[in-house]
Amino acid sequence: MLAFPIYLDNNATTPMDERVLEAMAPFFIKHFGNAASRTHAYGWQAAEAVDYSRTQVAQLINAETEEIIFTSGATEACNLAIKGVFERYASKGNHIISVNTEHNAVLDTNKHLAKNGAEISYLQVNSKGLLDLKKLEETITPQTILISVMYANNETGTIQPIKEIGKIANKHGVLFFSDATQAVGKIPVDVMADGIGLMAFSAHKMYGPKGVGALYVRRKNPRAALIAQMDGGGHEKGLRSGTLNVPGIVGFGKACELSKILMKKDTERMKQLRDMLEKALLEHGNIVVNGTTNGRLGHVSNLSFKNTDARDLMAALTKKNIAVSTGSACTSATTEPSHVLMAMGLSKEMAQSAIRFSLGRFTTKEEIDYTISRIKETIQAIDTGSL
Ligand SMILES: *Cc1c(COP(=O)(O)O)cnc(C)c1O
Repeated sequence: MLAFPIYLDNNATTPMDERVLEAMAPFFIKHFGNAASRTHAYGWQAAEAVDYSRTQVAQLINAETEEIIFTSGATEACNLAIKGVFERYASKGNHIISVNTEHNAVLDTNKHLAKNGAEISYLQVNSKGLLDLKKLEETITPQTILISVMYANNETGTIQPIKEIGKIANKHGVLFFSDATQAVGKIPVDVMADGIGLMAFSAHKMYGPKGVGALYVRRKNPRAALIAQMDGGGHEKGLRSGTLNVPGIVGFGKACELSKILMKKDTERMKQLRDMLEKALLEHGNIVVNGTTNGRLGHVSNLSFKNTDARDLMAALTKKNIAVSTGSACTSATTEPSHVLMAMGLSKEMAQSAIRFSLGRFTTKEEIDYTISRIKETIQAIDTGSL
C-alpha cells in the first residue's frame, strides 16, 4: 500500500527511524533528569546517556568524543562556527572565503558579519556546481581566518572536493569549516582524512529528531578555537550554554549509529531508484539534470523542465500526490529562482523550472514507479497544452 502523498523531499527533512524513537522514549518521563545535575541519579543517568550519544556521533565522522558540541541544529552550528571564529581570530584577520552556493544558514551568517567588519570573498562555481581549487588557493591572504565550504549541496547533491580543500586550508594555516548537513549519515565523512577543522550537521536530515545538531570542533593539528555565541551555564565546555535536549541527543546518537551500519546499503538502493527515475524522465528530451552527475549524492535528482514553470508543474504534482520541492525549502515561500542554480549559470527560466527529488531510507520502488507514471502524464499534459 502506498502512503500518500509520496514523500520525495528528504533533503528538507527525513521521517524519524522507529528505532530512534524507541531509544528516545525513556528519556522524556522515566529518565527526565538534567544532564547538568551532579547531585543525584536523575542527573547522572542523563549525563551518561549524553556521553554515550556523543560517542555514537563522534564515531560516525571519525572524531574524538570531546570534539562534539551539541546544538539545536545545523543552523546554530553554522552560526557558532563562523561567528565564533570571526571573534576569536580578530587579531589575525577578518577575511572569510565562502561559496555562493552555500545554504542560507551560512550565507546569512556571512551577511551579518559583513555588516560587522568581515570581508567575505565568494568563490564562483562552474556549471556543475563545483568550485575551482586554484582560485580558492589564490584567494587566501594573510588575513584569511576561515574557509567555509559545504560538503554536499542541499539542492543538487553536488559534492565539493572536500579533501583537496582541506589540504589547501591546512597548507596555508587557515581553518576549514564545512556545513556537512546533507553529507553526514549519507556518505562516509571522515574529519581526519578530510582535514576539516569545524563541521556542522543535523539529526533531522538523517532520520533523527528535529531540533538537535552538532558542531565538530577539532582539538589538535590544528586546534579550532571559538568564542561562544550563547552565554549561560557554561554547558558543552562553555561553547553552548543551555540545558541539554537529552531525548533529542539520545535520538541523534542512535540515528548516527544506524547510519553508520545502513549507509552503504541505503545509498546503493536509493541510487538505483534515483537513476531509474532519472532515466525514465530523461527519455523526454526537454529535461536536464542540474549539478554534477559524477560525484553527487545518490538520493538526489535536481531536474529542469524546459519551457515549463516549476510552479505549474509543482501544482500538478501536488494534485497527483507527490511531495517534492522547487529549489530549497527555505526559500520556497518566495518565487525567486534558486540562488544555487543561478550561481551555476542557469538562465532564470531554467532555474525557475527546476524540481528537486530527494529520496530517503524509506522510499520504495513502488513509490518511484508511481512517481514516474504521474510525471509522465503531467509532461504529456504540458506538451499537449492541456495542463
Ligand atoms: C537543513 C540544512 C541546514 C539547516 O539545518 P537545521 O538543523 O534545520 O538548522 C543547514 N545546511 C544545510 C546544507 C542543510 O541542508
